[in-house]
Amino acid sequence: MRRNPIRLATLLLGSALALSACATQKQVAAPARPAWALAIHGGAGVMDRETMGPETEASYRAAMHAALDRGRTVLEKGGTAMDAVVAVVRGLEDDPQFNAGKGAVFTADGRNELDAAIMDGATLKAGAVAGITGTKNPITLARAIMEKSPHVMLIGAGAEKFGQQAGVEQADAAWFFTERRWQSLKKTLKERGLPIPARPAGVSTEPVPLAAADMAFEDRKYGTVGVVALDSAGHVAAGTSTGGTTAKLWGRVGDVPIIGAGTYANDKSCAVSATGTGEYFIRLGVARAICDLVELKGMGLQQAADEVIQARLTALGGDGGIVAVTPDGQVAWSFNTSGMYRARQVAGGEPVVGIFKGEP
Ligand code: ASP
Repeated sequence: MRRNPIRLATLLLGSALALSACATQKQVAAPARPAWALAIHGGAGVMDRETMGPETEASYRAAMHAALDRGRTVLEKGGTAMDAVVAVVRGLEDDPQFNAGKGAVFTADGRNELDAAIMDGATLKAGAVAGITGTKNPITLARAIMEKSPHVMLIGAGAEKFGQQAGVEQADAAWFFTERRWQSLKKTLKERGLPIPARPAGVSTEPVPLAAADMAFEDRKYGTVGVVALDSAGHVAAGTSTGGTTAKLWGRVGDVPIIGAGTYANDKSCAVSATGTGEYFIRLGVARAICDLVELKGMGLQQAADEVIQARLTALGGDGGIVAVTPDGQVAWSFNTSGMYRARQVAGGEPVVGIFKGEP
């Protein structure tokens, strides 16, 4: 049968137009990856406005905004996700409000034993430290281990020795000491019928008086810090730093430095930083589990985070939360406690800061 050439041409033109319309629609439907994204937590737990008080609340909100500023400054200049993570975590480690670096909680024998980890999603390289006592910024030591040693994790005295040789800044016990964490330790030890250790060397022998409101709030003992970032090259990274849990047994290691539990990053899926009762996060491999759901089951980041935190962690009896980011710019947080200090921002968007459940 002979085809009518005009009709054929019309048909072809029609299909070409339909195809190009489809392509245009597709471009509109798939949002471009943001230039950068950042999410930060400062610990999760039982938090309510009344106990916290307006001044403390304002102070934590300001700290979260300052943390976003630090990360944004790195990422807007085209800096790497790794650099942004380190800049933000270091700032929070130096802020005595948080349970990381200065202001860390004490072990049952009155020491600050710090844990931290960092992971680069581009290379799957990771560095971690556990039980260190004399490094000013544990996240910097974790990064030095990743970059300058053949290992992933160093602990205790060996980690400190490596840090000294690598030129990582040291600090003595007095730097980490805060009165409110010390009083919190004393209270917890009394409740458990355990002996109260001597105050650390270099610290005033007399307790500094604290406001009753400070102590009421301090009883809740939160403040682990963590950051996830996406940079303009499309790479993700995660970092977390903590003093652990108040009155923990000497030598206890939490989830933070365990790669895949409290900290994980992989450009194929996502970057996650966690906070909460570490034992549960270790048992569930929380951070890695979220990334696996994204990579292997194709779940959206929020859905994957909720599956692990709201369903699995809750079912096991654990408490806490996470922040996470994907290489395509999804940002999520999920927590099963009444609060989590948190902040997020995506290039071109406004900063979002929250503390209590029910906030955006
Ligand atoms: N996850 C930390 C730990 O168990 C503590 C916390 O996040 O509050 O060491």
